Amino acid sequence: MKIYYTCDCCGEAFDVLEVENIDENKLGFDCLNSDERRDILKYDALTNSLKVLSLCDACIEELGLADENTTINYGFVH
Ligand SMILES: [Zn+2]
Repeated sequence: MKIYYTCDCCGEAFDVLEVENIDENKLGFDCLNSDERRDILKYDALTNSLKVLSLCDACIEELGLADENTTINYGFVH
């Protein structure tokens, strides 16, 4: 099964994973609540693929969401 990580902002598929089985723990889906699952995970039975709505790097930067992470990263470096 293919997992497409699709940007919720610009609609680009920025990452594709090919997996035998959906391992929710490994993919981090187990920490999503049911509302988040409904919003983020879109199963497409037609193509047997899973679309995961997320944000690509470009949009994270554009939305100014990168700042916080940058600070945290710097924290680790120093
Ligand atoms: Zn994007």
